[in-house]
Amino acid sequence: MKFLTEYRDPELAQSYLEEIRKTVTRSWTIMEVCGGQTHSIVKNGLLGLLPDEITMVHGPGCPVCVTPLHLIDKAVYLAEEKNVILCSFGDMLRVPGSERSLLQAKAKGADVRILYSPLEAVKLAKENPDREVVFFAVGFETTAPANALSVLHAQRAGLTNYSILASHVLVPPAMEAVLADDENVIQGFLAAGHVCTIMGIDAYYPIAEKYQIPIVVTGFEPVDLLQGILMTVRQLERNQYELENQYKRVVRPEGNLAAQKAIEQVFQIADREWRGIGTIPQSGYEVRPELAAFDANKKFSVNIHHAQECAACIAGQVLKGLKKPFECSQFGKACTPSTPLGAPMVSSEGACAAYFHYQEA
Ligand code: SF4
Repeated sequence: MKFLTEYRDPELAQSYLEEIRKTVTRSWTIMEVCGGQTHSIVKNGLLGLLPDEITMVHGPGCPVCVTPLHLIDKAVYLAEEKNVILCSFGDMLRVPGSERSLLQAKAKGADVRILYSPLEAVKLAKENPDREVVFFAVGFETTAPANALSVLHAQRAGLTNYSILASHVLVPPAMEAVLADDENVIQGFLAAGHVCTIMGIDAYYPIAEKYQIPIVVTGFEPVDLLQGILMTVRQLERNQYELENQYKRVVRPEGNLAAQKAIEQVFQIADREWRGIGTIPQSGYEVRPELAAFDANKKFSVNIHHAQECAACIAGQVLKGLKKPFECSQFGKACTPSTPLGAPMVSSEGACAAYFHYQEA
């Protein structure tokens, strides 16, 4: 399978590890931003293979983890009290709200459905003209185009019973928030390749320059990640801070212009609350006012704002790379994938789930 098996080649991986060992002379802390990269790093045992000088920490790039608690509560309320057909991706259904998850709401009789695409939700709205259909649209820049297209399709089809509960977040402001934290220890970034596939790489030049930090756009396979780490370490050792693209086979500098156009038609940039982290200015997408009819936040006036987080969960520190999952007192005890106290133990991109499943603790 071209472009996949060669990026899992053990000999190639070994040669990059050797090169990293030869290059590194001091301790460096590098953050992989994306939860998909975290899972690949932990699953493939890369943490144990890297030299001791390199500490990998995990970033805020798990969309399910950073969806605010009050929005989950709102989705549960819509499903239970407003009789809507509430749809989302599977992971989102299991994340605990302040009282229950969407899956628990479904068990109590609410019409909650797992879909693989927001376009399926538009189809559902066509087939159920007497019901309101709401798609819980979470994610980074990667899922925004499909969610935007669902709104455009619904508009073209003249549907009045379809809307999205949008909780989109953006990667570059999150990287800046991590760097601006007083406790920050990050010296280099692996930037998320799939986000750059959509948005291009221009947003990262000013971050590298302003914070004087190397940023390497990286893929998801073991060889991608090791090559990205090597490129970052080379820059760190040479005291450089540049943007480099390891994932050139997929990421074009300008990104996917058609996808960007769909995003711009439907969304505008706004301040956004991140679960566990707080509000980051200009870090999310909200539905444009002219498309308010498709914005579940505006369509259903539900007065749910802030809810209490589980006091023992340190997800915010995990998402900012300040703590490893096994440093949480609840890890593997009260908090497991079947009894999650926080979203990072639920999501397929959550750092706590990665450590739990692949036993890096
Ligand atoms: S192990 Fe559980 S309680 Fe601890 S930070 Fe992770 S999700 Fe939160």
